Formats: sequence, structure tokens, C-alpha cells
Amino acid sequence: MNNNYKLIYEGKAKKVFSHNDEDKVIIEFKDDATAFNALKKAKFEGKGKLNCLISARIFEFLIENNIPTHFIELKNENTMIAKKIKVIPLEIVLRNTAYGSLCKQTTIKPGTILAKPLIDIYLKNDELNDPLITKDRIDLMNLISSNDLDLIINLTLKINTVLKSFFKNIKLQLVDFKLEFGYDFKNNILLGDEISPDNCRLWDLKQKNDTIVSLDKDRFRNDLGGLIEAYSEINRRINEFI
Ligand code: UDP
Repeated sequence: MNNNYKLIYEGKAKKVFSHNDEDKVIIEFKDDATAFNALKKAKFEGKGKLNCLISARIFEFLIENNIPTHFIELKNENTMIAKKIKVIPLEIVLRNTAYGSLCKQTTIKPGTILAKPLIDIYLKNDELNDPLITKDRIDLMNLISSNDLDLIINLTLKINTVLKSFFKNIKLQLVDFKLEFGYDFKNNILLGDEISPDNCRLWDLKQKNDTIVSLDKDRFRNDLGGLIEAYSEINRRINEFI
């Protein structure tokens, strides 16, 4: 990255740099993969580029569908320019199908299609291991007003409707996904972070039998192999569709 840009923040999968325009940031997607709160780590050459390209296409599609996002434009294959936001420390998970932690913490069987989308909210705090949090606790911590929380929940439901049909068109089942939101300098709530196979579970609907074929980070979490092949397949299907 050019020396003119100052590193503002480095996360597990991305680096955020300053931009000449102080309302913007430059986000570089890294090849690093982490799981289980970074207890498991690896590097996959090309993952940063794939997630950046996939996220960019999805953000563009969401913007066309009137969802406010931080995305402005791609700078190059693994870097995007985005609006600077103050990230709200909540991880909003929406589930259409039961899998992952939902099945570890309840008696719901993996693969159960949920009658309606379930929203689980987690506190974004690595030290505390991102615990599941309630509306009352969010209130108690003064993290965000209940009005803004309702706004975020409604946006998440709308994003789900848009993304579910988007992915269905490219023969992928949107099992669940995690979103992060933030405030821009005018205090508007924008969707931030990324939308990629790192934070969405996507199952292949081209599969003829009932076996689950994950084309997402579960390939790394569950040691299935073929992560880059899976992410490339998603990128290929998106580009064919758009
Ligand atoms: N997720 C994420 N970051 C996290 C935890 C979860 O992006 O720190 C995503 C994950 O990829 C999946 C969804 O949120 O698409 C639900 O994950 P779950 O709560 O089932 O957790 P996991 O099984 O990954 O521990």
C-alpha cells in the first residue's frame, strides 16, 4: 500500500487505511483466515482478492436495491474505497437454515429450514468471545438506541430478502450470514464490513442428493479443503449472473 495512506486499523481479515478524503477509507482484504475466535489460523493465497470482488458485486447489488452501504468503489482487486463509519460493536446474524452455533446451543437439528428468519445478536468483543446478547443488555450498555436497533433489524431482514433471491438465482442456498453496521459522519446507519463466503454460509443447490456442499468458510472451519476453489466458484457464478 502507498506510503501516503496510514494504517488506521488491522483486523483478522482486513486492513483499513486512511484516504485523502477524510470521509473515506481504503479497505484491503487479506489472505488470512481465522476461525473459532482466531484459535485456528491459516493463509489462503487469493482469498483476499476473491472476498473483495465478491463483496463489491454484492454491495453494488444491495445499493441498487436501496440498501445503504459503506461501499463506494473497487480500487483494485483486493482493495475497495468505502465511506468511513463508526462501527457499532454488534454482530447481527440472520439464519434461514439451522447450522453452526445455533445447533450447538439448542436441540434444533442441522439443516432445519426455519419457519421465519431468526436474528441473533452478538457483542463484538474478542476478549469476551463475542457473546450472544439481548436487547435489554444492549440498552443497559447504552450501545445504541432501541430505535436504531429496530432500524438495523429491519435492514437485516430486507437484506436477507434481497440476498436470498440473489443467491437462489445462482443456485446457492443462503443458510445464514453476519452483518456489521456503523454510523457515517452524518449519523446515517450504513451496512459495513464485507459480504463474502467468510461471513455467509452458502450451500450448493446444484447438488443432486441431500448432501451438504459448503462453498464458504466452513471448508476451513471443518477441514474440508478446497476453500479457494469454493470461493472462486461463487465469484464465477456471480459474474455470470450480473
Ligand atoms: N460469523 C461471522 N463471524 C463470526 C461468527 C459468525 O462472520 O465471528 C458468520 C458465520 O460465517 C455464519 C454466521 O455468522 O455465516 C453464523 O455463524 P454461527 O453463529 O453459526 O457461528 P459458528 O458456527 O461459525 O461458530
